[in-house]
Amino acid sequence: MERILIIEDEEKIARFIELELKFEGYQVEKAFEGRAGLALAQAQPFDLILLDIMLPGLNGIEVLRRIRQFSNVPVILLTARDTVVDKVTGLDGGADDYITKPFAIEELLARIRVALRKNRGSVSIQGNLVVGALRLDPVRRECWVGTQPVELTKREFDLLQFLLENKNMVMQREVLLERIWGYDFTGETNVVDVYIRYLRAKIEEPFGLKLIHTVRGVGYIIKDE
Ligand code: CA
Repeated sequence: MERILIIEDEEKIARFIELELKFEGYQVEKAFEGRAGLALAQAQPFDLILLDIMLPGLNGIEVLRRIRQFSNVPVILLTARDTVVDKVTGLDGGADDYITKPFAIEELLARIRVALRKNRGSVSIQGNLVVGALRLDPVRRECWVGTQPVELTKREFDLLQFLLENKNMVMQREVLLERIWGYDFTGETNVVDVYIRYLRAKIEEPFGLKLIHTVRGVGYIIKDE
């Protein structure tokens, strides 16, 4: 389910948009103030952000500037002012689109669909590890396949992160064991294979993907497609 963040200080408008978006099947979070919106955008992954320009505290253009320091998430500006300066500042600042209030909800929904389509399949957050549809955010410790979040345990995440950081290289079982479980690990040595199976059950099988390849007698590799 695609997640949309609404940053809009006019609470009635924000709630109205929220209802419409939820009706369309989107997951929605909202913030009524610039700083709170920015904090949400930093703390959680979103597929799209609707951002009002005239906000108390931190205005929309400044919020956009700060969002662009860590994310390429599509941003549609909501503005009451239909001036050339605002459009240019907003688009120069990295907005994908803007819509002038008052707007018809159908028009907003159409623009949202376009912005989401454009962004699909691209890397949206800096520093993420990406192979095909798989995306790992080491800072937030989140894993996504397409737009679907995947819950991983700490060990599963560490193992997948290490394979992605060393993609296109075969990682020997012994190396994985040392790096992920530590030198003093005394359990079963097939623990690596067990965890690879856990990962496959979470990131491959539900999606019909093949990401982790077995190199018989040696170890595992994740390759660029
Ligand atoms: Ca406003």
